[in-house]
Amino acid sequence: MLVYHLPGTLDTREADLDLLWGAGATGLEERAGVIRAYFDARTDLPAPVSDGEWREETDQDWQAEFKRTLRPVRAGRVTIIPPWLREEVEAGQLPLVIEPGMAFGTGHHATTRLAVEALSDLNLATLGLDGTGARVLDVGTGSGVLAIAAALLGARFAFGVDIDPITIPIARENAAENGVPAERVRFEEGTLGADPLNFPEGGPEEEPEEETDAYDVLVANLYAELHDLLAGEYAAHLIPGGPLVLTGILTVKLPLVRAALARERFGDVRETLDGEWALVTARA
Ligand code: SAM
Repeated sequence: MLVYHLPGTLDTREADLDLLWGAGATGLEERAGVIRAYFDARTDLPAPVSDGEWREETDQDWQAEFKRTLRPVRAGRVTIIPPWLREEVEAGQLPLVIEPGMAFGTGHHATTRLAVEALSDLNLATLGLDGTGARVLDVGTGSGVLAIAAALLGARFAFGVDIDPITIPIARENAAENGVPAERVRFEEGTLGADPLNFPEGGPEEEPEEETDAYDVLVANLYAELHDLLAGEYAAHLIPGGPLVLTGILTVKLPLVRAALARERFGDVRETLDGEWALVTARA
């Protein structure tokens, strides 16, 4: 790859940039006080852009570069890692392996981390009927990270749904990568509202029919306006007193979520802030 390095920035040399384009540059970018002009072949450059230097650079593998920058994300008792960082999980932490891919939820977004922390604070292994583990519904599952975290934290069963069908096979692969058996986690395309979400075969089908779409815990990393629309559905899909964990909420939109939770008679509303993001917990 042939790159012409020119001292200066795109701002300070704005008037000269046309000369680079005119000389055949295929792209321009700025890094650390140097303009990088990409060319297919060397060419004589006129003043005032003749004070640069030609360099042959090896092509960067941007994917590999991106992978190198990923770090483990610690969230409560869970550490979220890509597969190649397994060794970096501290003793006592539960490793949650997520292959960075096309679905949202590598753990690097504050909202995912906040939600895993909140799940970690709930005693998922002892909630639920007879204290045998919570049944958790994850709305907008993406990579499956929250449902898988719930299963690793002791939930008896976690059900992840997403309106984007592309996420479902990714979430299933991530569950398999974490060794979570199919009877403890399930992913399906869907949402709340239009169709009732029934426990699938292989789930806790021994439950009485009328209880099949009430969950012990509901978690959703969506956005404030959607939480407002779905708040009634959240109430309908939770057992009385069941914890609700909502994030994806910009702090400026908190009033909308507070009002929706009050409207649907949720109690014990608490907020955790991280920069511009908020997580809200409440009880049905
Ligand atoms: N749960 C993951 C996490 O916490 O990192 C992913 C959260 S991502 C911000 C939101 C996900 O919700 C996306 O995968 C999107 O496709 C899905 N989604 C958006 N609207 C939805 C809806 N109405 N019902 C279900 N899923 C929805």
